[in-house]
Amino acid sequence: MTDGARPATAPGDSPREAATHCPYCALQCGMTLRETGGRVEVLPRDFPTNRGGLCQKGWTAAELLDHPDRLTTPLVRDAGTGQLRPASWAEAMERVAGGVRAVQDRHGRDAVAVFGGGGLTNEKAYALGKFARVALRTRHVDYNGRWCMSSAAAAGNRAFGVDRGLPFPLADLGRARTLLMVGANPAETMPPLMRHVADQQAAGGTLIVVDPRATATARQADLHLQPVPGTDLALANALLHIALTEGYVDRAYVAERTTGFDEVRRTVAGYWPAEVERLTGVPVADLEATARALATAGGAIILTARGAEQHAKGVDTVTAFINLALALGLPGRPGSGYGCLTGQGNGQGGREHGQKADQLPGYRSITDPAARAHVAGVWGVSTDELPGPGVPAYQLLDSLGTPAGPKALLVFGSNPVVSAPRATRVEGRLRDLDLLVVADLVRSETAELADVVLPTAQWAEEDGTMTNLEGRVLRRRAVRTPPPGVRTDLAIIADLADRLGAKAGFGDDPAEVFGELRRASAGGVADYAGVSYDRIDATGGVFWPCPDPAAPDTPRLFADAFPTPDGRARFRAVDHRPAAEEVCAEYPLRLTTGRVLAQYQSGAQTRRVPALRRAAPRAFVELHPDLAARLGVGDGEDVRVTSRRGELRAPARLTPTIRPDTVFAPFHWGGAARANSVTNDAVDPVSGMPEFKICAVRVERAQP
Ligand code: SF4
Repeated sequence: MTDGARPATAPGDSPREAATHCPYCALQCGMTLRETGGRVEVLPRDFPTNRGGLCQKGWTAAELLDHPDRLTTPLVRDAGTGQLRPASWAEAMERVAGGVRAVQDRHGRDAVAVFGGGGLTNEKAYALGKFARVALRTRHVDYNGRWCMSSAAAAGNRAFGVDRGLPFPLADLGRARTLLMVGANPAETMPPLMRHVADQQAAGGTLIVVDPRATATARQADLHLQPVPGTDLALANALLHIALTEGYVDRAYVAERTTGFDEVRRTVAGYWPAEVERLTGVPVADLEATARALATAGGAIILTARGAEQHAKGVDTVTAFINLALALGLPGRPGSGYGCLTGQGNGQGGREHGQKADQLPGYRSITDPAARAHVAGVWGVSTDELPGPGVPAYQLLDSLGTPAGPKALLVFGSNPVVSAPRATRVEGRLRDLDLLVVADLVRSETAELADVVLPTAQWAEEDGTMTNLEGRVLRRRAVRTPPPGVRTDLAIIADLADRLGAKAGFGDDPAEVFGELRRASAGGVADYAGVSYDRIDATGGVFWPCPDPAAPDTPRLFADAFPTPDGRARFRAVDHRPAAEEVCAEYPLRLTTGRVLAQYQSGAQTRRVPALRRAAPRAFVELHPDLAARLGVGDGEDVRVTSRRGELRAPARLTPTIRPDTVFAPFHWGGAARANSVTNDAVDPVSGMPEFKICAVRVERAQP
């Protein structure tokens, strides 16, 4: 049976249970699914990340399993009516395979592209990358995780030689004397994480939050720094400036464990606190208090998240905070260090095993001849047959349907019509394709544009592995079988590869795919060779790198050395620069975007859950009351937010917790309230991360 899933219990049978993890964010809270007579119930399960807690999204996750919107048959666009209509799997798959063949015959192999997701299991992410390279033989594969953690990933690779979001277990947060969170709002995005923060504060630790909004997390902080959006890099350099002038730098650590500090020292010398106060709006006294708390507390952790990272200078901003952490000697010590809070459910594993444009499994580079030879050997193809690197997600989507770009796109686990920056333009590109195929469980906004929609299994119906924000590889376990008419992504990929005559083998058994992933990752940076389903079952989770089944895994990195050629971490001097789009007379305000507690990512799933819809029924635009008064806008009145790229319309929500020069909109909704109609598609030159977090806008009362 596909995926090891089993038929439903009959009424009167004993309940069946599966110990698994939440389908949503990277905290991957432990949960038990109990299936009785076909009905699945979620029970919280004690796990080191969530300690028995779940947020509302986790509690209600099973409501999608039997949701009336769920797709249970493929859909194809009817040539006569132009509408999507039900079709058999044979018809749908032949339409896909035939369409792919026609496009590639006419335009070449790179004319077909694949777009994956950070919520796919490791097995699916691996299979998708392999499918692109050896079945389609296209260089064009990338995924929506590019819009999530890619700036922190690039900065981590640059400084430490490895990208593991947290290089220590999450429980270390509780041991940190000072915790600095930059652009992170876990109280709203992953509430159970705050149990660790509560431990930290209860033990007398200090929590400092950097955020333009007084978020739920910031309101719990001992000190809240509220900078102008887009100025975090300058703020970090000022903190290091203060650390230098106050004698806080750990000179022995810098000398023994790092390289490149002199240039950083010269650069931050120019970041005088008084000047940085003028730029950021953060008082000098608060900057000094933060530097002191980080340096003198006896153990500090600096965390960044999307608020710092989703900028056209996101990599350099994260680098500035890593510089600060290294100068204070934090990484590699207990209860201390730098980390990134990964967002998507498999945001970590999804960026390790080959669905990125420049990457092969095990976090290998697709341009490295040795890496290519190793992976080609595992796949049973010649090295020459593997394509080279493609382009990052936004660049890929923005090229679709253009003369030089792909003419067909296969989307798995993503909804770019809502989640892409400058989404109106991306939507147009998708409409220009000769063939758009979407594998999803509901008719998402992207599926609505597709030529073929393939219904996929949900998390409770499949086995596999996920890698959480700590780099801990976890088991996802099925409690029931997919409904008739629904297939797993692995089964869809294997069928398509077969129809396209792929030489390499593709299977639909997750355990077998994982076995192959282990071999493909062996010797890579993200080495899973020593991870097995049995080992995860026995331990609850295995931290990578784990090259040897018989040796311990690696909960903490950097204790003795960094995985760089000389074993030292690398400082890199970085300078503040303005946002890609600053305010002006026509667009005098800054828009920043983000999440709300009861919705997740593009909302394709959570907007359909009644309890979540009740909790967060619609989009809104957050404005400071002073700004609202100036604009003549009352609470709840519709406003129009306009940028150079488009507009969104949603009710105003007045709150004093936001800066008066900044407005906020959540990005979970499509249609007229789509925040990404407005956002800027400027990208970071290193990571390809779009500037979701800041653009210049005009706000006005919408005409009824
Ligand atoms: S959404 Fe995140 S925080 Fe909420 S239950 Fe799921 S894994 Fe936990």
